[in-house]
Amino acid sequence: MPLEWIDTHAHLDDERFQGDLPTVLARAAEAGLTRIVVVATTALDSPPCVELARTHAILRATVGIQPNHVAEATPTAWDEVVALANRPEVVALGETGLDRYWDHTPFPQQEDYFARHLELARKLQLAVVIHCREAEADTVRMLRADFEQHGPVRAVMHSFTGDLATAQACVEMGLYISFAGMLTYKNAQALRDVAARMPLERLLVETDCPYLAPVPHRGKRNEPAHVVHTAGVLAETLGVPLSVIAEHTTRNARALFGL
Ligand SMILES: [Zn+2]
Repeated sequence: MPLEWIDTHAHLDDERFQGDLPTVLARAAEAGLTRIVVVATTALDSPPCVELARTHAILRATVGIQPNHVAEATPTAWDEVVALANRPEVVALGETGLDRYWDHTPFPQQEDYFARHLELARKLQLAVVIHCREAEADTVRMLRADFEQHGPVRAVMHSFTGDLATAQACVEMGLYISFAGMLTYKNAQALRDVAARMPLERLLVETDCPYLAPVPHRGKRNEPAHVVHTAGVLAETLGVPLSVIAEHTTRNARALFGL
């Protein structure tokens, strides 16, 4: 039986997929993918993500506003996200989170929207997709405050690039850690060392396509079928067969997103 995979983070609404999405999805199915989570980054691209999931059986969607896009959000943007969150195709909110690498959005405003996503997810019993770039301490601080007040949240640290302490703090609070193509890069040994210490029960894989293509596709447009390359490096890193990675990451993705 072929191995089964779930790409937990794909930006298939990106214009780079406009010309050939059916072919991309066919290649994904051929590679063993049974679900792909299409992740929104703005109130504007949330409806197209939901529409994609309504149109293609293999897809599910998230709705939300990525921290770097919060500054440009219109006054009605959050209400538009809230209105979409009840749709049956929607399995999570996000991507949300904190980002100190870019300074598009003042940090207090990022915190405000991150908190909104966490609160709405709890209310609607949805998962949360968390983006964190050079803001690990702040993200853990906010997650811990939320955890102490409300208990575990169903969430994933997507495209994880943080250190071991951050990963362990998140795992202790019940979050999942998702690895993308960076894991396969030659200069990413520190990240592989973190991955090696993660429990199988908390691991996810993703492409974050069209960005971050794994080796041997690095530099080209990424797509969901390529998730198997990241999974292959994860298997080597953990010293387990690829089938073990497939089994656990697929089961974990199902549990997180209710797939
Ligand atoms: Zn993303």
